[in-house]
Amino acid sequence: MAVLFGTDPLFLDHDAGTHHPERPERLGAVLKGIELVQDKVEVVRFNPEPASGFQMAKVHGGDYLATLRRFCLMGGGELDPDTQVSIHSWDAAILAAGAGIDAAKRLKKGQADAAFVAVRPPGHHAIADSAMGFCLINNVAVLAAELVSWGERVLIFDFDAHHGNGTQDAFFANSSVLYVSTHQYPLFPGTGRVQEVGIGDGHGTTVNIPLPEGTTGPTMRYALETIAWPAIEAFDPTWLLISAGFDAHYKDPLTEMGLSSGDFFDLTSWAMKLVPKGRTVALLEGGYDLEALRDSTASLLGALSGESFSPEAPGRLRPERDLIDALAQMRSRALD
Ligand SMILES: [Zn+2]
Repeated sequence: MAVLFGTDPLFLDHDAGTHHPERPERLGAVLKGIELVQDKVEVVRFNPEPASGFQMAKVHGGDYLATLRRFCLMGGGELDPDTQVSIHSWDAAILAAGAGIDAAKRLKKGQADAAFVAVRPPGHHAIADSAMGFCLINNVAVLAAELVSWGERVLIFDFDAHHGNGTQDAFFANSSVLYVSTHQYPLFPGTGRVQEVGIGDGHGTTVNIPLPEGTTGPTMRYALETIAWPAIEAFDPTWLLISAGFDAHYKDPLTEMGLSSGDFFDLTSWAMKLVPKGRTVALLEGGYDLEALRDSTASLLGALSGESFSPEAPGRLRPERDLIDALAQMRSRALD
């Protein structure tokens, strides 16, 4: 199966600051991952189009976008202690926000069977009126909002080691988007408790799976099958968006999770079966060890293409069923 791969040199121009972990070299590691698989996988490359103001305004309200644009174009600086921008960050950010939409349009035209967009800056911490945690515009949320406007039912699977608080916020009261997050807990940004299940029309369409340090792939897989599956089955998604952050890899310097790149292959393959063929878009979020990023990208592409390819074996430890069963019970109580 063919996989669309969208990226652009403009993403290298976003400068998050000296010695910042979210650095341009990350995209070089992603490209090395693509090289690892391109003999086995048919990779269809494209340079994405930026998102329109109208598309981004579905997620970011008020004057946030205008303020961010002005701040970048005046030379940039610090938005918060974690999040800095440079003069080119606005152009990179609107391209990152549009990349997923461009990929989805191409999938609808039948250009490939799945897509991966390697973008910077990442997006899942950005909230309606503010940048946060290396993120400026919530790329996956902008794409999900666009797909909802097409009449689709969107499953977002966020396996980044951090909770995607911005994505959760965007759809907390929205029954057209099911947000499923696996993340280390406690960890930045501090949200993502299992009791956060959505409100109003969105009650039940947020699934948080907070996990302890050292969690491996089999535990995460068991958690998804136990905690997330009932919600996914009831929701019946038509599209899958993956917030593909690879900082849950055991080599990552920012977190303490225990996944291998083989686990990302396994998790992605599992999730893809939840939606029709040709309806999966993965967007790069975090991931700060360059080797892990390379290998995990190769695994992701393998899974997206349906080819069995993974530089590292998946984890073999027995799943921690007691912990997950307890979390499942806590979610059930929160849903009552
Ligand atoms: Zn992260």
